Amino acid sequence: MRPNGIIIAIDGPTASGKSTTAREAAKRLSYIHINTGAMYRAFALYANQWGVSSTDDSRISGLSERAYIDFDENGNILLEGRDVTKEIQVPEIAQLASELATLPQVRSKMVAMQQEIGKNGGVVLDGRDIGTVVFPDAELKVFLIATPETRAERRLDELVSSGTNITLEKLTDEIIERDKRDSERALSPLKKASDAIELDTSKLTFDEQVERVVELAKGKVD
Ligand code: C5P
Repeated sequence: MRPNGIIIAIDGPTASGKSTTAREAAKRLSYIHINTGAMYRAFALYANQWGVSSTDDSRISGLSERAYIDFDENGNILLEGRDVTKEIQVPEIAQLASELATLPQVRSKMVAMQQEIGKNGGVVLDGRDIGTVVFPDAELKVFLIATPETRAERRLDELVSSGTNITLEKLTDEIIERDKRDSERALSPLKKASDAIELDTSKLTFDEQVERVVELAKGKVD
């Protein structure tokens, strides 16, 4: 066992409920939650602010050296010390994050940060490559799945309540496009680890999916 508890890796495709499940499971276990997608999004926001395109390799390398991305004690994502939780939710930043996430210099920086934050355990990380690359030795690995339609409907509710205007059709297309890019990229593609437990959330309530993760975690700790 690690000093602060086990490492829980929650991976899965876009809008499969990873972050909300990870956040609530972490709360019930008194663990830290690291939303690694938010880190890639914060980096996308940074590149966007500097007007650097995802094809400009050398400037992206420079930015990934300099980017200062962190979390506050409430799990909010900080870029250069500023809370950017809301700004990173927009679909354009999600798309740019998925493009930048194909680049080795960006991934190696993010992975090193995630390993540093999580190494002592007592942590729930959610993303695409946590169980395969970031912590292949995580004590518990969960892979969440749900149909693209279910995922789009869930994400639409979140976006509409935060004031973003987008149709269900456009969102479904964007989700399918991001899934394709995330699964087909050469580097750390979205893939279920061979020892991960698959959980289809299409027919589970939010509370049921959180409880499932918490029970599995308690089983590992006991
Ligand atoms: O999870 P979320 O949708 O916020 O992630 C945004 C993008 O960041 C994903 O589409 C994916 O390309 C990238 N990502 C990644 N590896 C992770 C987490 C996110 O490549 N561990």
